[in-house]
Amino acid sequence: MSKLVYADHAATTPLSPKARDAMKPYFSLRFGNPSSLYAFGQEARTDLEQARAVIARCIGAQPGEVLFTSGGTEGDNWALKGAAELRKSRGKHIITTAIEHHAVLHTAQFLEKQGFEVTYLPVDQLGRVDPEQVKAAIRPDTILISVMAANNEIGTIEPIAAIGAIAKEAGVLFHVDAVQAVGHMPVDVKEWNCDLLTFSAHKFYGPRGIGGLYMRRGVRLPPLIHGGGQEKGLRSGTENVAGAGGRAAALQEAVGEMAAEAQRLIALRDKLLDGLSRLSCTKVTGDRENRLPGTASLVFEGVEGEALLLHLDARGIRASSGSACSSASLDPSHVLLAIGLPHEVAHGSLRLSLGRETTEADVDYLLEQVPEVVNYLREMSPVWDAKAQKPVWYD
Ligand SMILES: *Cc1c(COP(=O)(O)O)cnc(C)c1O
Repeated sequence: MSKLVYADHAATTPLSPKARDAMKPYFSLRFGNPSSLYAFGQEARTDLEQARAVIARCIGAQPGEVLFTSGGTEGDNWALKGAAELRKSRGKHIITTAIEHHAVLHTAQFLEKQGFEVTYLPVDQLGRVDPEQVKAAIRPDTILISVMAANNEIGTIEPIAAIGAIAKEAGVLFHVDAVQAVGHMPVDVKEWNCDLLTFSAHKFYGPRGIGGLYMRRGVRLPPLIHGGGQEKGLRSGTENVAGAGGRAAALQEAVGEMAAEAQRLIALRDKLLDGLSRLSCTKVTGDRENRLPGTASLVFEGVEGEALLLHLDARGIRASSGSACSSASLDPSHVLLAIGLPHEVAHGSLRLSLGRETTEADVDYLLEQVPEVVNYLREMSPVWDAKAQKPVWYD
C-alpha cells in the first residue's frame, strides 16, 4: 500500500471538523428560513448574522459590508460586472493583471465584448505586479482596478496595500480576489484600501459552494440576483445558513491558528522547494520571499505536466499542474507564460500545495517520489538528452 498525500490545498481544502460540526444542526432540527417572522425563523436569522459578524471581524470589515455568495467565481463575476455597470457612465476602462484567476480574466474578456476596454498588466519573472505600472495605467476613464492578493498557481503575494493606496488616490474602485489569501495570511480591507474583496470558504477548510464579497460601505453594486430581497436586495434567494455557519467556523479557526500554522507550513514548503530544486533543469516558480505559506511550485524541463500528475497519482500523490481549472486543457498556464517561461518549459509545471494535515513525513515522501518520477519521465522523453542531462532545446 503506497502512502496517500493530498498536496492540492490551493485547489480545495478538506472540510474542518469544526466547520462540519457548526453546520450539522442546520441539516436537521435548525432548518428555519431566516425570512420567516416566527421565532424559529428569526433564530436562523440570528445565526446567519452572527456568522456574518465573525467573517467581517476576520477581514477587518463591518458586518453590513459582507455579502454571501456561492464562492470565489461568483464574487469575482459580481465585482467586475457590477462595478462595470455601476460606473459605466464615468468611463469604460478597467485595469487588471495577466495572472488573475480565470474567474476574473474570463469576466474581463466578457466585458471587453460589451464595449469595455481592459488593460492586462504584465508581471515580473517572480509574478509580481508593479504598483507604479498600475499608477501609470490609470486614465481619466478608468473605473476599476482588480488585482489578486496572492496567485493560485505560483503563490506570489502581491503588493496590495500599495496598489490600494494608488487606487484610492485616483478615486478608482479597487477589487481584490483574495481567495488564496483569506485564512492563510493577514487580510485587512481597511489597510488594503479595497472597495471590493472576494473570498471562498472551501479554500480555508470550509464547505464548497459558499463564499463572500466584501463591499465597502458607500459602494453599492447593482443586484446580482433579483427576487425576495435577501442580502440587502442585492442577492435574493433563501440564504445558505448551514454554509454561512460552516464558513464562519472555518475562518475563525484558520485565523486563530494562522501565525503558528504559517510558520509550520513555510518550513515544510521550503524544505520541499530546496530539495526538489536540486534536480537538474528545475526551477522554482514565483517569489521565494513573498509567497503563500503552503504553496510550492516548480517547473521541470523535459517533462510533461500531465504525465507527471498521472504518475504521481499512481503513487498516491494528489498534485496539480497549472491551475485545476485549466488542467483539462493542453495550453500551458497563462500565469507561467506571463512570468516569461517558454511554452515548452511551462508544460513541465508542478504545484504542490500543503495544508493543515500535511506532515513532515508527507514532505519526505514527496521528496522521494517526485524526483523518481521526474527522472523516469525524462529517461522516456524524446526531448531529454540523457547524456547531457538537459532538454534538447539547449543545443
Ligand atoms: C479557487 C479560486 C477562485 C474560484 O473560487 P471558487 O470558490 O472555486 O469559485 C477564484 N480565484 C482564486 C485566486 C482562486 O484560487
